[in-house]
Amino acid sequence: MRTQPSAQPSSGRRVWRNWAGTATATPARWSRPRDEAGISAAVKDAAEAGLTVRALGSGHSFTAAAATSGVALDLSGWTGITAADTATGLVTVRSGTTLRALNAELDGLGLAMANLGDIDAQTLAGALSTGTHGTGARLGGMATQVEALELVLADGSVVTCSASARPELFAAARVGLGALGVISTVTLRCVPSFMLVADERPLPVEEVLEQFDELAAASDHFEFYWFPYGRQVLVKRNNRLTGGDAERGTPVPAALPTWRRFWEFEVMENAGFGTLCRLGRARPRLIPALNRFSSAALSTRTYTDTSHRVFVTPRRVRFAESEYAVPRESLGQVITELRNAVPRLHHPVMFPVEVRVAAADDIWLSTGYGRESAYVAIHQYTGLPYQEYFDRFESIVAEVDGRPHWGKLHSLDSGRLRSLYPRFDEFRRVRAEVDREGRFGNAYLTRVLGAHDL
Ligand SMILES: Cc1cc2nc3c(=O)[nH]c(=O)nc-3n(C[C@H](O)[C@H](O)[C@H](O)COP(=O)(O)OP(=O)(O)OC[C@H]3O[C@@H](n4cnc5c(N)ncnc54)[C@H](O)[C@@H]3O)c2cc1C
Repeated sequence: MRTQPSAQPSSGRRVWRNWAGTATATPARWSRPRDEAGISAAVKDAAEAGLTVRALGSGHSFTAAAATSGVALDLSGWTGITAADTATGLVTVRSGTTLRALNAELDGLGLAMANLGDIDAQTLAGALSTGTHGTGARLGGMATQVEALELVLADGSVVTCSASARPELFAAARVGLGALGVISTVTLRCVPSFMLVADERPLPVEEVLEQFDELAAASDHFEFYWFPYGRQVLVKRNNRLTGGDAERGTPVPAALPTWRRFWEFEVMENAGFGTLCRLGRARPRLIPALNRFSSAALSTRTYTDTSHRVFVTPRRVRFAESEYAVPRESLGQVITELRNAVPRLHHPVMFPVEVRVAAADDIWLSTGYGRESAYVAIHQYTGLPYQEYFDRFESIVAEVDGRPHWGKLHSLDSGRLRSLYPRFDEFRRVRAEVDREGRFGNAYLTRVLGAHDL
């Protein structure tokens, strides 16, 4: 089911609210174009009315990235694949397509995205615009899979950018925060569909930190979850099933039967964990013990499945999240400091910390720009206080020049972000060139990019 930004009547105006409930807005107007000409017309109409425009994705950013008091552009009627070349893997997709729908369409073509994040509710353009990523030491974030973009600019014109056509716009717009225009279509370089062998098992946190580089290098997709009062982490290693595995006689685990998928993903990891979270919210003093219980209950699981059925899991328990990309070599320092900090917090933490990796890339505002990254994501159950925890986390990652995920909670402003991104001023220059009047601005962009250059 597509998660839509909620639209409720409030003082006669529909309210937009994000998935986590951490951002709301009351747009002056809503527009739901069904074709590119409609997107272009909505942008021109907004200009005539002196309103700003924000394209909406699925509302899965924790920040107010999509929030607008101007025109909210709902792209849920602009979906599907428009062209696919199964020989090259190049697939052109309308920007409002959810990753779930895209994965299903790609299945039918024998193609797949090379890497994905944890969920598939986001729209393709929404996910790209904030730098959404999965994990894999040899792979970049989702935006590195983009070959070309079609954008509706502030004057309503439609332009294409790629490595050869308007390369600066391409370097900026692949992770563009919605600041440069409305992405109309995305051309992805997909790969032939593949199976992943998933291996999940608990290991002591010290052992994983000591061997982190080797572990990350040894798997196609490596990550771990750590309950911050516990001593164990859940290590997840997903590796592509190759023809060689069968030839070598390497045992390949079976797919999880439907009942077991339901039991483990829905009952244990969502309903069961949700019950523990509600208990923790009602009795916060129990949280460290519940957290240690969750850590001790981690168990081993191996299975094989179609790539996106391994990458993506249902997330029904709501939470607030912050995530920073840190230089890979500083992960040990960050986790050690977090381990010391969490027991001293006034408000205990219910949710695990997630650690992932990505290769360096060359996209101007990508959190992976120019450096190999470890991603550290912290979460708190919805309704529990998180500010003290998130502030402490930010002070830890600041020491190692951490870069915040653009779609997850953070407090940085343009002054600090300029020092973290070598191409920050070039991004601002391109933005000023393509959107002279700040048609695509909002309060979040003013904070993170600074006042619009005219
Ligand atoms: C449960 C959960 C799990 C998550 N897992 C991961 C994960 O594994 N990895 C990760 O990196 N992130 C993850 N995220 C964060 C999420 O991927 C990003 O915040 C993403 O941007 C959300 O996509 P969306 O479609 O909901 O976009 P929205 O949040 O609605 O919008 C994001 C931005 O994209 C812009 N935008 C949307 N459409 C367009 C368009 N057509 N043209 C131009 N700009 C546009 C919006 O204006 C806004 O600035 C997760 C979030 C949640 C809630």
